[in-house]
Amino acid sequence: MTTIAVLGTGRMGGAMVGTLRRVGFDVTAWNRDRSKAEVVARATGAGVAGTPPEAVASAEVVISSLADDAAVEEVYADVIPALRAGTIVLEMSTIAPSTIHSIAPGVADARGELLDAPVSGSVSLVEAGELTIMVGGAAQSLERARAVLEALARKIIHVGELGTGATMKLAVNALIHGLNVALSEALVLAERSGVERTTAYEVFASGAAAAPFVLYKRAAFERPDETPVAFTLDLVAKDLDLILDLAREVGASMPQAEANRAEIEAALRAGFAERDISAVAEFLRARGSDEAPR
Ligand code: NAP
Repeated sequence: MTTIAVLGTGRMGGAMVGTLRRVGFDVTAWNRDRSKAEVVARATGAGVAGTPPEAVASAEVVISSLADDAAVEEVYADVIPALRAGTIVLEMSTIAPSTIHSIAPGVADARGELLDAPVSGSVSLVEAGELTIMVGGAAQSLERARAVLEALARKIIHVGELGTGATMKLAVNALIHGLNVALSEALVLAERSGVERTTAYEVFASGAAAAPFVLYKRAAFERPDETPVAFTLDLVAKDLDLILDLAREVGASMPQAEANRAEIEAALRAGFAERDISAVAEFLRARGSDEAPR
C-alpha cells in the first residue's frame, strides 16, 4: 500500500485526503493550521503530522496543494531536507511554472522525483475522483505516480517536461475564469430582463456553452446562499495575476483576461474575496450597468 503525505488540507487538499482514503491509501495530512488537518483526519481516518518534515518522512508519494507560490516556496524549504530518496513529489497547487523550476533542484538533490500535476475541476470533482490532471516531468515518474493520480482523476494528460503542467493549468484557467465572468454576466442579463434564474440556467446548461463548469456550478449559481464555497475569488485573482505575468513573459496578448482581472478586482474591493468564484454573479446583481469599468 502506497503511503501518501498530503501537505495542505484546504478545500482541495482536504477533499483529496478523503478520496485517497476511500480508495484505501495510507494518508498522513499536514496543515499550517493543525485544527483543519484534524477535522479532515477525524472524518477520513488519515493520520496528522505536526510538521511538513514529519509528514513526508515515511511517504512514498507527497501531494502538495497550497494556496500560492509563496506558500509552496516556504513549505518546500522545510520539506526538501526530510525527503526520502525515490519519493515522488506531486505539486498540485496552481502556481507559476517558474516556481516549479525554482523548487526542482532541491527536490532533485534530495533524490526525489518532482512532477507538476495541477488540477482542473473543483471540490466536487475531487470527491468524485473526476479531476483532469495535467502533468509536467519525467514519464517514468508519472508511471510511478499513476495509481495515486488515477484515484483523483478521470483524465491524466502528460503535457511534457517539468513546468509544462503548471503552464497548461494557467492556460486552462484563463478559459475557466473567462467562462465564469461570461456566465455571471449572461445570467444577470437574463434575470434583469425578467427571465427566472433557474429557467435561464436551464438554457445555459442545455445549450452549446454547457461546459462541465457550467453544469457542476449550477447549484452555486442558482442558490448562492445555500452552497458552500469551493474556490475563493481571492484565488481567482491570484490565478489571473499568474496568467497575465506569463502572458507578458511570452508576449501573448490577452485583453479578455485583463478585463476579467479588472472585474474580479472590483468584486474583491466590494468585499467578495472569501466568496465563491460564482459570486461574481452576486456582485453584478448588486451593481448597476453605469458602475461597470470602461
Ligand atoms: P484553500 O482552501 O484556501 O487552502 C489553501 C491551503 O494553503 C490551506 O491549507 C492553507 O493553510 C495553505 N497555506 C496558505 N498559505 C500558506 C503558507 N504560507 N504556508 C503553509 N500553508 C499555507 O485553497 P484551495 O481551494 O484548497 O486551493 C489549493 C490550491 O489548488 C490553490 O493553488 C488553488 O489555486 C488550486 N485549485 C483550487 C481549486 C478549487 O476549486 N478550490 C481548483 C483547482 C485548483 P491554512 O489552512 O493554515 O491557511
